[in-house]
Amino acid sequence: MSDRVRFAPSPTGFLHVGSARTALFNWLHARSTGGTYVLRIEDTDAERNRPEMTEGLLAELEWLGLTWDEGPFYQSQQKERHREVVQDLLDKELAYLCDADNEPVKGNQIKDGLAVRFRMPQGEIIEFEDVVRGTVSFATDDLEDFVIWRSNGTPMFLLANAVDDADMGITHAIRGEDLLSGVPKVILLLNAMGAEQPTYAHLPLLVNEQRKKLSKRRDDVSIADYRERGYLPEAMVNYLALLGWGPPDDVEIRPLEEIVELFAIEDVNKAAAFFDLKKLEFVNATHLRDLEKNDFIERAKPWIEGDATPWTSENFNQDRYLKMVDLVQEKLRTLSDLPRFVDFIFLEEPVEDPDSWNKAMVKAPFASEMLDGTFKALTDCEWNTETIKEAVTEVGESLGIKLGKAQAPIRVAITGRTVGPPLFEAIALCMDRQTVLDRIARARSRL
Ligand code: GLU
Repeated sequence: MSDRVRFAPSPTGFLHVGSARTALFNWLHARSTGGTYVLRIEDTDAERNRPEMTEGLLAELEWLGLTWDEGPFYQSQQKERHREVVQDLLDKELAYLCDADNEPVKGNQIKDGLAVRFRMPQGEIIEFEDVVRGTVSFATDDLEDFVIWRSNGTPMFLLANAVDDADMGITHAIRGEDLLSGVPKVILLLNAMGAEQPTYAHLPLLVNEQRKKLSKRRDDVSIADYRERGYLPEAMVNYLALLGWGPPDDVEIRPLEEIVELFAIEDVNKAAAFFDLKKLEFVNATHLRDLEKNDFIERAKPWIEGDATPWTSENFNQDRYLKMVDLVQEKLRTLSDLPRFVDFIFLEEPVEDPDSWNKAMVKAPFASEMLDGTFKALTDCEWNTETIKEAVTEVGESLGIKLGKAQAPIRVAITGRTVGPPLFEAIALCMDRQTVLDRIARARSRL
């Protein structure tokens, strides 16, 4: 029989990066073993039982390409089944009714206003093999009688979770480490129902630079935000796959199909995984660079055409843009950086970044001389990458400054920023001499 794995998020209104990692690892396990990937929305909490709480989550899963084979199933629709199991546990005296003060109440019929608690057996050890954590055991004496049915007539999370896993024939529950402590209770429920327990794999915690658990308040945890910032879905899943797992050949940046080939849930390790934004950016830059040129152009479109661009559609010049694409694709870290990399070839005046101006103009003692010398040298040199570069290099050398430093004021005068695409290629390919000279002169006059 093939494996049945499930991603069982409780709706939160957005897809958290930790949840996305869980979704991915379940998906990878299903795809790499030829199993079935089931999506179940655990919305028993009335607060979360609203469509808008799950819409974003489903959209982000689809964006990541983590499509499911069955579902989405909604736990809230199984309420009658959950009630039936709770009633059965009451009938067998494995559970009991209790009132608002937590006092046991006689009787064995579910009743409005009364909660139901599972009776914790005494003196037992509950042990199970976790794929990631190894043997895990809990003493029942350390656990309390726990609520399985609320007095408002709804099932508690652990009960619904256990019943649904059993009913759906789930063989593997791959999920976050924070859920580990609930497992002994779920196992007791499954035993009481006479159901088999799935294999558990608890994925390591995600931590930030300070080694603290990722938090919504401190950290960027929403997948939608990364999408909006111009991360590619393939880079996102590639990076998420590295949080707790690594390929045997240590080649970390690669297509998802290869990760499916290499993935084994047994290889996940239990050390906390650092959610490293710099590395994510690097993974994204690599995937951007590896795109076919036409694919890159297609996927960059929303960032070039949208209303949010600093230029108008009249300013935009497709020919010039196409000449810039190769240069930009090499350098870009996220697609949302794209407008800042190309705006200077469309706009009348470059968009000035005050920090760049300060660093390259105000604080560089040689800025005026560099601008004067370059203005002269570019007045009559041939207009191609090599000659422009040579001209600027020579001016720098005459002042005893290496090109890397010497070009900074020129770059800021022309593009407005210290960071951008390769400067000389960009000038030679996309700008005419007069515009370049005008910008240098204008910058010079302000010093
Ligand atoms: N619904 C739970 C959560 O979002 C996960 C349950 C599970 O994976 O077993 O935290």
